[in-house]
Amino acid sequence: MQTRTRAAVGAGLLLVLALLAGLLWWVAAERGLTARDLWEVVEPPPPEPCSESDPTADGSARGCLTPTALRLHDAAVARFGDPGRDAPIRSISCWSEHAWNPSSDHPKGRACDFFPARSGEFPQGDDLAAGWAVAEWLRAEARELDVRYVIWQGRIWYRGSADAADGWGRPYRGGGVYDPEDATGGHFDHVHVSVGRS
Ligand SMILES: [Zn+2]
Repeated sequence: MQTRTRAAVGAGLLLVLALLAGLLWWVAAERGLTARDLWEVVEPPPPEPCSESDPTADGSARGCLTPTALRLHDAAVARFGDPGRDAPIRSISCWSEHAWNPSSDHPKGRACDFFPARSGEFPQGDDLAAGWAVAEWLRAEARELDVRYVIWQGRIWYRGSADAADGWGRPYRGGGVYDPEDATGGHFDHVHVSVGRS
């Protein structure tokens, strides 16, 4: 009898554990996280090399991108068309030295900036809507494109996180490097996206 009771308790515990694992799995999947994401918390992979040439570099031989960043760049161009004055995306800039911010993902080739209007200006109307379309598309494709975070309109969204009560993502404080009130510093004039791991 006792053995049977113990077996029943054991089976019950296993069932509870299975339910908990299922719940964790479901929550992770809901937030756009994959089994690989969960495993990478336990065992982080080495960073991707900056091995591809950056198609947005104008004349700079030093520009490089990780394969993941190049894939995202190409997917964005496939979705929104070649950048240009009358296109949804006016310009794209990926690799840069970013000497003023050594922790930036740009010199590692893991980030791109999408400008819906002129750099340094607060976009309005259609330009503003185009910026939002890019930001929302990056978020919707985050899992597929290995997006880590998106910064836009003074807000930052991390893959796997929910929106704050006051709106999209959460307020972006500028990381102590940028003036969050500034068009560029606050990422009002461009959508920043970082991919992969550092
Ligand atoms: Zn950026």
